[in-house]
Amino acid sequence: MTNKNRVFNFSAGPSMLPLNVIENVAENLASYEGCGQSVMEMSHRSKEFKKIIEEAETDLRELMNIPDNYKVMFLQGGGTLQFSMVPLNLFRNSKKADFLITGSWAKKACKEAEKFGDIRVVASSEEDTFSYIPKVEKKDFREDADYAYICYNNTIYGTHFPYVPDTGDVPLVADMSSCILSEPVDVSKFGVIFAGAQKNIGPAGMTIAIVREELIGFAEKTVLTYLDYRIHAENNSLYNTPPCFAIYVAGLVFKNIKEMGGVEAMYKLNCEKADKLYNYIDSSDFYKCPVAKENRSLMNVVFVTGDTDMDKKFVEEAKAEGMVNLNGHRSIGGMRASIYNAMPVEGVDKLIAFMKKFEEANK
Ligand code: PMP
Repeated sequence: MTNKNRVFNFSAGPSMLPLNVIENVAENLASYEGCGQSVMEMSHRSKEFKKIIEEAETDLRELMNIPDNYKVMFLQGGGTLQFSMVPLNLFRNSKKADFLITGSWAKKACKEAEKFGDIRVVASSEEDTFSYIPKVEKKDFREDADYAYICYNNTIYGTHFPYVPDTGDVPLVADMSSCILSEPVDVSKFGVIFAGAQKNIGPAGMTIAIVREELIGFAEKTVLTYLDYRIHAENNSLYNTPPCFAIYVAGLVFKNIKEMGGVEAMYKLNCEKADKLYNYIDSSDFYKCPVAKENRSLMNVVFVTGDTDMDKKFVEEAKAEGMVNLNGHRSIGGMRASIYNAMPVEGVDKLIAFMKKFEEANK
């Protein structure tokens, strides 16, 4: 397989994986490292899989510098199930939670939590189509809240928190589905970090939850077994059959990031890619990025021409040139270039060259 057969996939997720990871998977597909079976067929209790899952956790801990008092869990159910698992596990005292609403995913998480407790919206940018991240301070949070909640990178609207809110002693939960491993993060500032795999980690089907130990073990007796963090923490993500193949591929992605120099090196590359694209958009009269400059996402670059038909034409013509999935989320339209870790710099260069050509032909 060469790069020539592959398109640049700007999808918000599932999205591109590093080509060398895919090639490694292909080589080992029928017989993983010569053991005579595929990881897809392997017992999750086998010594081969035990090594795979343990190395995946060790490598993730190293990449994110995860402190020892945090559990790492490989779960199923996507980011969406975490919207439910978080309240079911973290409502342990006042049953109060404070939310920052910065997009559709935070809103969905908030709706789930409302089923179980007393929710307060601390701030929202909805009135301005989620085009910015509100500034909040410690005094904005209720001191007795069981947790505070943010969506750190807003996949649909292309925004990212430029700061980690100071919530005092209230544990902060962050949905990092669309930015995990793209930038250095101080894990100790968070009570829970979770992320669906299908953007920066690996194939869909696996979800990572990183949870401070002192927050585990408070789910009520009525909470269904699979939804209790304690069950997964005590069984090292092997309470039941985990998404073995997705964990395996994620493990290869972690090794790939380590070989590339770790999260710091990824961050540098991601800044380079995003800067190029935003600089071009800002310098053009034809395209516009609706997001406040200081709140722009490194991963999801949202832009419009201001003319819906022109946007559609852009997406179609880009597709014909091997750049796919550049349409914005179905809820907002326009364009969105998701440039996760695995998007090569050449993909961004090719997109900018196409944007220039399209602008010339259509302005
Ligand atoms: N959170 C964010 C930030 C997302 O971008 C998404 C999906 N793209 C979700 C949560 C939902 O994740 P899932 O589809 O894995 O349930």
